[in-house]
Amino acid sequence: MPIPAGPDPTVAGQIITVPDLPASLQSAELIAVMVAGANAKAARVAPCLASTDPLPTADQVAEAKLILLGAVKRWAEAGAGAFQQQTAGPYSVTTDTRQRSGFNLWPSEIDALQALCRTSGPSAFTIDTAPTGGSIHSPICARMFGALYCSCGAELTGTGPLYELVDP
Ligand SMILES: [Zn+2]
Repeated sequence: MPIPAGPDPTVAGQIITVPDLPASLQSAELIAVMVAGANAKAARVAPCLASTDPLPTADQVAEAKLILLGAVKRWAEAGAGAFQQQTAGPYSVTTDTRQRSGFNLWPSEIDALQALCRTSGPSAFTIDTAPTGGSIHSPICARMFGALYCSCGAELTGTGPLYELVDP
């Protein structure tokens, strides 16, 4: 069985594309935005996947693709979640159970993406998330000063800071 080709080298960081998704998801609302976002998030947490020199291996891309497919599927299903209007007599109740936590990679997904980069050599792995479980904290977050708590909100978002944003 042939190994799927790596990403088109002219499109750095394009790990998944809409045609990679199951047919039922390809027509989901905002699917192209979610796919682009998934690629961008993966490139940010695991820079080796978006590197053009060296290109990620076909194996790395194949595994990353699976991880991102799972995330995009989750986002698409959350976006299409239950939005129900119930009518009981003269009263109408709207129940919105759609997920409000946003479009984020789970810490386990970030770890898995970063593990793919670690296998390609220590130099490709530059973000140390060991103490934070995948969150990238603000440089002025209390955690950066040795505190045992996070003051920047990165542990709420699972990705980056919510507060204490600092321009690079
Ligand atoms: Zn923090």
